Amino acid sequence: MSKKDIDTRFNKFGTISFTSTTKVNDFIDKLEAGKVSGTNCKGCGAMYFPPRADCCKCFSSSMDWFDISGKGRLVTYSKLEYAPIGFENDLPYCIAVVDFGEYKAFGRISGDIADSEIKEGMELKAVVNKLPNGQINYVFEKA
Ligand SMILES: [Zn+2]
Repeated sequence: MSKKDIDTRFNKFGTISFTSTTKVNDFIDKLEAGKVSGTNCKGCGAMYFPPRADCCKCFSSSMDWFDISGKGRLVTYSKLEYAPIGFENDLPYCIAVVDFGEYKAFGRISGDIADSEIKEGMELKAVVNKLPNGQINYVFEKA
């Protein structure tokens, strides 16, 4: 594989991307199309978010994509006052686990939601978010 053949779509993900290539780079194309997507195993039906290329339940590598849609419920969250290198300017922000029924999703709660409004059990939806620096990610907003 020559250098120009390397699939670097994941460079576009997040405030700073620490991952340039993955087996699930289509995730970025889907974000650019306005969809937040996970993978589901064709073998056993397990659903994954973030997307996985390989199933940890039945070890199949035959996966399909599904779009995260509808409303989920906030299971738990944490407000970060300290962040990894590169994310200092985003502070403070909240990370969360949202239960969509058949699967759970992990991500950041939109800064548009005031801390006082964030409650376990509240309804949230996953939306694509374009960052000022041209990067792309997803956040949870009020459903
Ligand atoms: Zn499986």
